[in-house]
Amino acid sequence: MSLQRSQIPALPAGVALRGRRALYVAPDPEPSGARIWFFTRLGGVSRPPFDALNVSRKVGDSEEAVAENLARAREAMGRRPTAWVRQVAGDGVVEVSEGGCAGEADALITSRPGLCLTVGVADCAPVALVGEGRVGMVHSGWRGTLAGISGKAARRMGVRGLTAYIGPCIRQCCYEVSPELAGEFARRFGAGVVSGRQLSLPEAIRRDLLEAGVREVVDLGLCTGCRPEFFFSHRKQKPVTGRGLAAVARVEGA
Ligand SMILES: [Zn+2]
Repeated sequence: MSLQRSQIPALPAGVALRGRRALYVAPDPEPSGARIWFFTRLGGVSRPPFDALNVSRKVGDSEEAVAENLARAREAMGRRPTAWVRQVAGDGVVEVSEGGCAGEADALITSRPGLCLTVGVADCAPVALVGEGRVGMVHSGWRGTLAGISGKAARRMGVRGLTAYIGPCIRQCCYEVSPELAGEFARRFGAGVVSGRQLSLPEAIRRDLLEAGVREVVDLGLCTGCRPEFFFSHRKQKPVTGRGLAAVARVEGA
């Protein structure tokens, strides 16, 4: 898929678009000692509605296309080994030390250099955690956010010196929820996370992380709902769309 200029949103300050085939956004500058890849949907081979860089085998896309997309993502990640989980929208955190599937969970942490921790997302927030000698990756939809999964993963890693990066996700502008759910979020995180029925997932995650003792939370400020041509958005492309990959790894000498 060739990239059209109009598909690239103006990026917020502190965010860079990178990659040669599979395109991703990353904090700019990169954190020291780690690399973060929040992949866009551009640069893969899947056909609509999975166009183009879908990484999920569970949405009805062709096996060959997903395999090629994953190969392109791995190429962008320096062909490092990757670990993933069967995401269940819970609050499970697993510690991993090798590539492959680490079972059912929604967050992974590791101290092993060069191991990419990955999750698949389409509106849910990917949250990369970069600590001293450890990294973590969290899949945080509304259920996981309400369950405090980002704070939980940060506590498991140790919050000293930890920085959290909230990747592209559905934001308050595009995320209307039921009055009941809005109320639940306001009770848990404070009235500031909702405006009427519009829920701010990244603000709830930020408050959860601060509560856990994380000092620095960087929100990339990108909305999947506002730019469905750039990111997969379950809400904007339902009933069927692809999943984008988000990854983090420790890198030595970086
Ligand atoms: Zn939006």
